[in-house]
Amino acid sequence: MNNRQLFLSHLAQTTDFPLLIEIEKAEGVYMFGPNGEKYMDLISGIGVSNIGHRHPKVLEAIHKQLDKYLHLMVYGEYVQQPQSLLAEAIVKTLPDSLDNVYLVNSGSEAIEGAIKLAKRFNNRREIISCNDAYHGSSHGALSVGGNELFKRAYRPLLPGVRNIQYGDQEQLNHISTETSAIILETIQGEAGIRVADKLYFKALREKCNQTGTLLILDEVQAGFGRTGKFWAFEHFGIVPDILVCAKGMGGGMPIGAFIASKKIMEVFKENPLLGHITTFGGHPVSAAASLATIQVILKENLIETVEEKANLFRTLLKHPKIKEIRNKGLMMAVAFESFEILKPIIDRCIEDGVITDWFLYCDNAMRIAPPLTITNEEIHIACESILKAIEEV
Ligand code: PMP
Repeated sequence: MNNRQLFLSHLAQTTDFPLLIEIEKAEGVYMFGPNGEKYMDLISGIGVSNIGHRHPKVLEAIHKQLDKYLHLMVYGEYVQQPQSLLAEAIVKTLPDSLDNVYLVNSGSEAIEGAIKLAKRFNNRREIISCNDAYHGSSHGALSVGGNELFKRAYRPLLPGVRNIQYGDQEQLNHISTETSAIILETIQGEAGIRVADKLYFKALREKCNQTGTLLILDEVQAGFGRTGKFWAFEHFGIVPDILVCAKGMGGGMPIGAFIASKKIMEVFKENPLLGHITTFGGHPVSAAASLATIQVILKENLIETVEEKANLFRTLLKHPKIKEIRNKGLMMAVAFESFEILKPIIDRCIEDGVITDWFLYCDNAMRIAPPLTITNEEIHIACESILKAIEEV
């Protein structure tokens, strides 16, 4: 059996149409196949490799930790330096009110923790979430997701969840003193990059303050420099009560977190009611990689050039078939008339060694979310390839 046949035989599949691209090595903006293929990764493994694949500082941190210990104990019992140093580094990037970090394994798990924390904090049961939201694939995360097609087969899901329209200020009136939390992506990713305005976020924060509702912002995609600020909420002049992150956090290693004030987080300590228990959460190797990732983002000034790079994409990607470009920094959607037009363009780009994708809920837009380390020259190459593909199909 060749590697593709092996992949298809015993490995559970997630789709009838896997990309089936074989990768042997990855470095920086590039991934390499077994027969000399070279691909530019314009989607960072879906928003993970913000600092590029296998950043040397991340590898160094991993190697150092490998020589000390791997897993020791469930999260929250032993003193493990990589976790404490990581929490300290994360808190330094945040406003004072967000000073307590709960480390987990993934975005979905962080969402679960955030929802549970809100319920415990104010003892309310209603959760408000947004249409077209994607928060993950576990049952709680699915429950607050905003696409019925993805939820239907798994009902009954969490009771007490109500969806409103992201970005629609009027619908914030659904938030009441019964509402435990409202959860939303600061910038909607899988909806095809939707950005609400500053006034909306201001009204949202005020409504939450008035009703004692916790504001949970999901920055699993938008965090860690992706949008041109370390955290996307910085664009809008508000601060969430609970912040959720993962993906780019680990520099390629699995890790996630939900972050709140110590006052909120403390409700999880009250025995004998269980808070959130996670065996592998904040794995020391991932935590060490994550700390190195934060240091790279800050020391290499990766955030400062995001806007300029995004603008270069916007300037170069001009074509009558491109209907619209929506973005916040390097979180971009290039919209075409339909999936039927977009799909062959994506296929052609992949043949040409440039990997893009579409979005879970938006199949007429091309996902562009390259490592923040991409150079202007590489952006020119990528855009030439996309424009050539548009012409050829
Ligand atoms: N929230 C958002 C905004 C996401 O984009 C994702 C993953 N695409 C998740 C949560 C879930 O993260 P994970 O796949 O790590 O569980």
